Amino acid sequence: MNTASISGLVLAGGRGTRMGNVDKGLQPFGGTTMVAHVLDRLRPQVASVAINANQNLEAYGAFGVPVWPDDTPGFAGPLAGLEAGLRRCATPYLLTAPCDSPFLPSDLAARLLQGLEDAGADLALAVTEENGQRQPHPVFCIIKSSKVDVLSAYLAAGGRRMDGWYPQIKVTEVLFEDAAAFRNINTRDELQSLDPAGSPVSAPRLADVASCLSAYDPDALPVRDAQRIIRDFVSPLRATEQVALRAALGRVLAADITSPIDVPAHDNSAMDGYALRGTDLSPDAEMRLRVIDTVYAGRTSGAVPGPGECVRIMTGGVMPAGCDSVVPQEFVTESGGVMVMAPGTIRAGDNRRLAGEDLKAGSAALRKGKVIRPADLGLLASLGVAEVPVRRRLRVAFFSTGDELRSIGQPLDEGCVYDSNRYTIYGMLTRLGCDIIDMGVVRDDPQALEDALVDACENADAIITSGGVSVGAADYTKQIMAKLGDVTFWKIGMRPGRPLAFGRIASKGHSAFLFGLPGNPVAVMVSFYFFAREALLRMMGAEAPLPLLKARSAAPIRKKPGRTEYQRGVLSRGADGQPEVKITGSQGSGILRSMSEANCMVVLQDEQGSVQAGEMVDVLMFEGLI
Ligand code: AMP
Ligand code: MG
Repeated sequence: MNTASISGLVLAGGRGTRMGNVDKGLQPFGGTTMVAHVLDRLRPQVASVAINANQNLEAYGAFGVPVWPDDTPGFAGPLAGLEAGLRRCATPYLLTAPCDSPFLPSDLAARLLQGLEDAGADLALAVTEENGQRQPHPVFCIIKSSKVDVLSAYLAAGGRRMDGWYPQIKVTEVLFEDAAAFRNINTRDELQSLDPAGSPVSAPRLADVASCLSAYDPDALPVRDAQRIIRDFVSPLRATEQVALRAALGRVLAADITSPIDVPAHDNSAMDGYALRGTDLSPDAEMRLRVIDTVYAGRTSGAVPGPGECVRIMTGGVMPAGCDSVVPQEFVTESGGVMVMAPGTIRAGDNRRLAGEDLKAGSAALRKGKVIRPADLGLLASLGVAEVPVRRRLRVAFFSTGDELRSIGQPLDEGCVYDSNRYTIYGMLTRLGCDIIDMGVVRDDPQALEDALVDACENADAIITSGGVSVGAADYTKQIMAKLGDVTFWKIGMRPGRPLAFGRIASKGHSAFLFGLPGNPVAVMVSFYFFAREALLRMMGAEAPLPLLKARSAAPIRKKPGRTEYQRGVLSRGADGQPEVKITGSQGSGILRSMSEANCMVVLQDEQGSVQAGEMVDVLMFEGLI
């Protein structure tokens, strides 16, 4: 999609009467404000973003975007905001969204623009279906900026209704599946009681899950037991949505896709050459075949070659009736309309693609639960599939805990460190395809922690915290987590990253799975990769176990049996061309540099002892091909 052609406008020009006369967009939400969420959602979809507001202009300006008040006076409603935006819009299209819609779809711009273009319309607005009722969302719309004069005339004549000027332009509707994404928050009560997490299917109790293990000791839990409890405890979200093919990249397929057609639809040529009848081939004599027609890619030929005849054919050309073989043009000569071929050049059936050889009509093309990759997009396109059912994105809230943490931009007081975990966690969650709610740094203070956890739990499907789960004097995290739900605290037989809190917390009827990761920067990443990752994928409806490989260790590695060790490594080709892994420098659990230098983790299993040089070890690559 061409984001460069669209400007984004957040509509925040209302009085906020129902919020108790406070500015809606500036209401605290998910650790920041509602408008910050909307801006975060819009930014990747458009060339630039601005806010329409009529009060607190400075506060809105602090988000670093232009703030435009209405030109039409007297809080004239969202249409006046739209007018203000259109007048200043420097691109052919303007996309609007209200400031109280923190979950707006990440493909809002792409789908509205597509709908507008398909219908040749001036304005495309979002609609959803709730209980069989079509629900228009006129404030989520894309509009041609050239229509500003029509709108101004309508406003000048006293018109105020959002749809009042539709008769004067061409309007189309675009259906979005996930109605919850358009949820707006009008009152303080709604803000409190909002259910952005949807409803994860009810989970069992942790104690019941743990009791399935033959021996369970939370203070000495093997990695694989912890992984198993987590796997059994979390459950997939049910909500799905239908998205345009391109928007399905990286999403989890929500239903099996069966092929509606044979791919390819006809027998066709795999080469540029000559299509002939296999029965004409002679094992020992030179063949001379008369060329009676030419078939180009995607074309058919009415010609039916008889004995001694052939058809010139291009790659992708439909095989003429009676032909089953193609001889590539580079192996033959043609002159005077006759193709000459030496004996034994091809066998019958060579260089012909059979109808349905890629996929047969009615067969399963893709299975649900698959994370859609570029090849899958291509496969779906080859079937003519325009929209794909995918699971709703998982919403994950995360924050760091610790009085010693400073955020980027703050002075680094003595004894303090910059909060790096929030950035690694941001990166890992984003790569997993989650919708993220960054809640910042939370102090080591019981009330602040409780507030943050409650807030997170009311707004997200899962929560990830870092720090505070070990035994430090100021580590209140554990007691607050325990107070809020079914949470267990483990000491896991692993290095780095021994402490881990895991469970589910609830507030006001909303619940969220919780991962309390340790604070040390490497321990955070290791715990995320080996515990949180698979659980989050499972919640997303995807099954994606860690792809462990084997590689030869270039050097000895010291290791005690009885715990799993994760060492940062660099995998490369050894002198003999075989994969070989070397441990990167210092393996201290706070040393992020060696994590950054590594391209893989070496996983030394629980029961394993020291490794000799040349011995094979398990390795997990950080990057895939794409
Ligand atoms: P904790 O688990 O809270 O005891 O933290 C363990 C260590 O990790 C301490 O040295 C913390 O300063 C450090 N740490 C905790 N959280 C972060 C963070 N978000 N960024 C960088 N270091 C952190
Ligand atoms: Mg701490």
